[in-house]
Amino acid sequence: MTTEPFQLTELPVLSRSAVTRDELIRKDEGALDALWQAGLVVLVDDLGRTPVTEDATALLPRRARELSATRPTEARLLGQDGDTAYWSVPADEPMREGAVAPPNAWGLWTGAVSEAGEHWHDLRAVGALLDDASAGLFTTAAGLANWHARARFCANCGSPVRAVAAGWATHCTGCGREEYPRTDPAVICLVHDGRGVNGESVLLARQPVWPEGRFSVLAGFVETGESLEACVEREVAEEVGVRVADVRYLGSQPWPFPRSIMIGFTATADPTAPLVPADGEIEQARWFSRETVRATLAAGGALDGLFLPGTTSIASRMLTGWAAAG
Ligand SMILES: [Zn+2]
Repeated sequence: MTTEPFQLTELPVLSRSAVTRDELIRKDEGALDALWQAGLVVLVDDLGRTPVTEDATALLPRRARELSATRPTEARLLGQDGDTAYWSVPADEPMREGAVAPPNAWGLWTGAVSEAGEHWHDLRAVGALLDDASAGLFTTAAGLANWHARARFCANCGSPVRAVAAGWATHCTGCGREEYPRTDPAVICLVHDGRGVNGESVLLARQPVWPEGRFSVLAGFVETGESLEACVEREVAEEVGVRVADVRYLGSQPWPFPRSIMIGFTATADPTAPLVPADGEIEQARWFSRETVRATLAAGGALDGLFLPGTTSIASRMLTGWAAAG
């Protein structure tokens, strides 16, 4: 019998990183030019895809100098690994759509093949397959790309902005205001029944737009003026109509689609309380036993019509941690 409260047994896959972020160097134009010359570039297309090896275990960055003799204005410094600087640049290459995802990829996003034969994939599809350095670089590159794509005008005066600080800020051409990459916090909560230390069953729900049979833990965006813990209590009550207690932090991972961070919690609820799925938002909510979750995870995430969240999500790590703590 486990007496310790369960934890995430592994770091969420998009929280892995192996490069150094140096804020000071982002404003040193001379240093940035030198870092470009010795740099590698993670290309990201307008659908958020980047070239990866065929088994998707690593990125296929380009040599910066071969891409451009001088540092382009849209180059974004992702970080440094020793003497190597990693950059990201928006890509616009002709693609053949519909590339088959590598084995074990999260299959909701199809890739594409470039004319050079490179496979380009979405971070959600291949995030769990990538090595630590690649996962961290791609996550940061996707986050910066999504922010720049949606922040082209000043929120204060409406004038166009231009990227500064190696892509880590924008400067308004009208009023001079500086803006930094935005992140929207969202809570995600594994609710169990509270029996013993870690419960015997878990509350999962499905949204009507999801593929049939897919269930996951509950999640929702934090509102302005709201604490993370209050958000957990409100979201669970709104989505399935139950009150939670014992809210406890588990861990977090960036989710740059387009600009979230998922903040993971666990909480308990009474499994005999009636479940009231939110109209239009939740199609069905159910309690699942630890045995069912364990068996489904052991089968690769799908068993007997139940599909658990893809391995790139923090939800997958949360369920794995809970299932392991009997
Ligand atoms: Zn402005």
